[in-house]
Amino acid sequence: MNFRTVGGNKMNYRSFGGDVSLSQLGYGSMRLPRIEGRSDGPIDFSRAKEIVHTCFEQGVNYFDTAYIYHEGTSEVLLGEALAAYPRDSFHVADKYNHWAEPDYRKQFATQLDRLKMDRIDFYLLHAIADDTVESYLTNGAIEYFLEEKQKGRIGFLGFSFHGRPEVLETVLDKRKWDFVQLQINYYDWFFGTARRQYEMATERGIPVFVMEPVHGGLLASLTEEGNAMLKAASPEKTIASWAIRFVMGLPNATVILSGMSDMAQTQDNLATITAGDTLSEPELALVEKVCGMLHETVAATCTACRYCCGECPQGLDIPMLLQMYNEYKLGGAWRLSRLNGLPKEKRPSACIQCGACSPHCPQQIDIPKLMKEMTEAMVPV
Ligand code: SF4
Ligand code: SF4
Repeated sequence: MNFRTVGGNKMNYRSFGGDVSLSQLGYGSMRLPRIEGRSDGPIDFSRAKEIVHTCFEQGVNYFDTAYIYHEGTSEVLLGEALAAYPRDSFHVADKYNHWAEPDYRKQFATQLDRLKMDRIDFYLLHAIADDTVESYLTNGAIEYFLEEKQKGRIGFLGFSFHGRPEVLETVLDKRKWDFVQLQINYYDWFFGTARRQYEMATERGIPVFVMEPVHGGLLASLTEEGNAMLKAASPEKTIASWAIRFVMGLPNATVILSGMSDMAQTQDNLATITAGDTLSEPELALVEKVCGMLHETVAATCTACRYCCGECPQGLDIPMLLQMYNEYKLGGAWRLSRLNGLPKEKRPSACIQCGACSPHCPQQIDIPKLMKEMTEAMVPV
């Protein structure tokens, strides 16, 4: 780890290997500011460029985009904003999305054209999940991107992931990846599989790039009581900064990506990263406590005791499905798409609503009701 002073701030850099050092804060361009008053409107290029320039001037050197963000205009914005600087002074990350455009050659060429660049420094297979893993691993894209790496049009090859740990293991062991982008935040650490995923990559010596450190904004505002507890502990710190500080404490969290939509959020992230202080033991305990309070208000409080599983005539993996339910409640219905990777007889739709499970649940979860809710929210394939 080393430091560089930029514009009065001390950006923290982590060594990626060789002569590559990456700023610990990475700029994510999936939630760029939009033209005022239109939540689905086009990017406000002027405001977005101002944010990109502020990040660069304060030492950020990692800028992440994807083929599908803002219908492709995120790549255009990033290319235009970064054209102000020497090409070797920053790193661009971009992603191949096979369901948006299966033709990887065509997609890669389009991306270089949108960015107006002749290389992409960090390239990822985008959002590998249980239902997309097969396509990504077998459609020839990896071999093609390795050829592009040989030619120097790709610097490093990795993937981003949104699936079960068992699937992550398969992908991690497919080849020696240069890096992996995982969803890591304290909610998923305590109540999801983030810790297991982080450890799987770390054990294999693969640098982890963190996405969704604030869980899409969820951890920027907790329960009223939880917010008050964090404010009482550190009145000057924002609630979101606790989430950033949590991931800063993970030694293998090489880059922490944050999708910055406005200048206030950008300045808060920069201040948190440059201050460099991670959570102390008492602060970690406090975060775990307020996280538990949040969990009880928004999700199924399954503890994975599996007392219910032996009662299910369908043999459903109920705790795994309830974990998916929680991710759906916190992150949106699209997260349920990964359940399409399960055999039909193991999906929530296989629940026959017999009710045999719920009486055995110490958490008193109405399991059939949640299975029905997931079935209705899923887009079946
Ligand atoms: S209600 Fe559904 S999940 Fe519960 S035991 Fe019956 S089939 Fe299994
Ligand atoms: S019995 Fe309840 S808490 Fe235990 S695994 Fe089943 S749903 Fe989860």
